[in-house]
Amino acid sequence: MMEAAKLTEEFGSLVFSDKVMRQRLPKNIYKAVHKTIETGKNLELDVANCVAAVMKEWAIEHGATHFTHWFQPMTGLTAEKHDSFISPSDDGSVIMEFSGKELVKGEPDASSFPSGGLRATFEARGYTAWDPSSPAFVKDGSLYIPTAFCSYGGEALDKKTPLLRSMEALSTEAVKMLHLIGYQDVKRVNTTIGSEQEYFLIKKDYYKKRKDLLFTGRTLIGAPAAKGQEMEDHYFGVIKTHVSEYMHDLDEELWKLGIPVKTKHNEVAPAQHELAPVFETANIAVDHNQLTMEVMKKVADQHHYACLLHEKPFEGVNGSGKHNNWSISTDTGINILDPGKKPGENLPFLVFLVAVIAAVDEYAPILRLSVASAGNDHRLGGNEAPPAIISIFVGDELAEVLKGLEEGTAYLGAGKVQMEMGAQVLPNITKDNTDRNRTSPFAFTGNKFEFRMPGSSVSVANANIVLNTAVAEELSKMHAKLSDCPDGDSHERIMDVLKEEFLAHKRVLFNGNGYTEEWIREAEKRGLPNLKSLPDAMPYWISGESIALFEKHHIFTRDEIYSRYEILLENYAKSIHIESLTMQEMVRKDLAEGMIVYQKDLTDEIAGKISVLGSTACALERHVLQTLDEASAGISKALVKLNEDTKKAEEMSDVFEMADYYHKIVLKDMDELRQYADQAESMIPEKYLSYPTYEQMLFSLR
Ligand code: ADP
Ligand code: MG
Repeated sequence: MMEAAKLTEEFGSLVFSDKVMRQRLPKNIYKAVHKTIETGKNLELDVANCVAAVMKEWAIEHGATHFTHWFQPMTGLTAEKHDSFISPSDDGSVIMEFSGKELVKGEPDASSFPSGGLRATFEARGYTAWDPSSPAFVKDGSLYIPTAFCSYGGEALDKKTPLLRSMEALSTEAVKMLHLIGYQDVKRVNTTIGSEQEYFLIKKDYYKKRKDLLFTGRTLIGAPAAKGQEMEDHYFGVIKTHVSEYMHDLDEELWKLGIPVKTKHNEVAPAQHELAPVFETANIAVDHNQLTMEVMKKVADQHHYACLLHEKPFEGVNGSGKHNNWSISTDTGINILDPGKKPGENLPFLVFLVAVIAAVDEYAPILRLSVASAGNDHRLGGNEAPPAIISIFVGDELAEVLKGLEEGTAYLGAGKVQMEMGAQVLPNITKDNTDRNRTSPFAFTGNKFEFRMPGSSVSVANANIVLNTAVAEELSKMHAKLSDCPDGDSHERIMDVLKEEFLAHKRVLFNGNGYTEEWIREAEKRGLPNLKSLPDAMPYWISGESIALFEKHHIFTRDEIYSRYEILLENYAKSIHIESLTMQEMVRKDLAEGMIVYQKDLTDEIAGKISVLGSTACALERHVLQTLDEASAGISKALVKLNEDTKKAEEMSDVFEMADYYHKIVLKDMDELRQYADQAESMIPEKYLSYPTYEQMLFSLR
């Protein structure tokens, strides 16, 4: 295990960091790279050549023989193809080469990545382009170069490109607004993200014995264990010895890659845990989260565990999410969402607070969609994670600030005195008196917002693309209102606009318990959308409002929006299709085998005992056999229905219709089948089952 003293030395030791660049690159080259990072302009070829040469030397010193352009296609996973540095020379030996061209651009054979029809209309090739704002690193003997992935025509085929575009859009609009309200020194704002990652650990041997976990990431059948999470004894509980060893090794691996993981603890469900890094610039944080998920699985394997990142691996206990902590900071070092001691007087804070409230209200369906997936839909609305209705929790203190804004109480007076708005009633907002509403999907937590809906397995890029763009749009609209007015930058006018905006969107605020029936009814009254599934939310993605938003801020073109529409729906349908087939197979083979053998043993036992003791013998055995036989009839019927309905889905050609059918019909069939299957399983002793039970999986970590 790494000693504390070595930690500071080892942290980021496998990263081609800014520090390494400063030490190794000639001064003018280092400056040129920085300029590229800041302005997004292309690197001159001779500069790129120089960087590549230095990078190669560094990578070889750190054990790399290969390099790879690392990108994030629309599968939500990462992709890589490795080339060695080797280049043959005339005398039959080899030299190690890496050119500037190889650094800045790659042409992976991209035809097998989802493009939602985009590439077909242009060219089959895809290109990867170096993203110098996210540092390269060495892993498993390769130099990893973070890249964006696009088509020949420049259409984004990945998640990084639109994320970078959205950060840019937000920066542009934020700077405009800050200039208007008197902060002329700000040149850029940065989106910051810290994503808390939840996961389950189970023994690898168990994992390998379950087709459902292997193929779909979640259990499709399984009777609940007698104990679940009801004792609330796991959350923050003592971490078991072996699990703790895993966490140590994981921390070490991540630290070497420069990923600042900081917090770890047990989560609500048995065998569930969480890890959280210190926040970073959005783009880097997203890359790091992708990398974190990969390393979590790799280190788990070394510890004879399987790390489950699925949103709902087990029925009946909590699923896993990824809390997306989000804020905006200026290049002058201000966290704009930090309310400070007097939030009522903190104009940038108020402006951005109102912009976020407006953005979340106005674009709730798209925000909901940004976290929709076959896996995550099991979580949202399940009274464990936030409900599918999007609302914002601001806490009592901020509610008072906003009330002050609404009533205009504090700025009715003249001149600068009005800045006192609400301040009298307001103590400094500390973390403790804001965040403790665990049911809210979007909570203000002291100096940032925490979006709690993202699923544990997905890239957080999508959620942040939508969030950044929606906030950019609200800032842009407010700016337009102000600049159309001769005294637009006067304090009164700004406060008026804030009030107007707040009044138009305050329906999205909710400080109560989001798990109750009353809230669902109340939300409906307020007109807040309750989109329970991906197909429910999908039409909003291609709505005029959505297209206008993304086109205006140059995040997605119409084609890119439609391509993502296709991919999301297709992905959803495919996921449930695989689940259906896997479930059928597991029930038909694995569960059936256990049922048959056990029933045979019971029958033999009953027959034998009756011949000795007479016909009244075997009350318990008969009851079990009878129940199993009833379950068997139910299973058989439900299997036939699931099989037939899945076949119907396979025939469908319209991708929306198909996804909707999987949601409305196939998932229901699976629920029905599961009821009978679980009932049967609960009667069968473990030794008759070829796969591990919930009890074994959830309660066997040491
Ligand atoms: P919780 O109570 O939810 O566990 P923490 O204090 O552990 O809250 O913080 C959760 C995450 O929020 C961490 O990843 C942290 O780095 C991140 N965070 C803190 N400040 C910011 C910020 N300004 N922008 C983005 N994320 C932040
Ligand atoms: Mg949290």
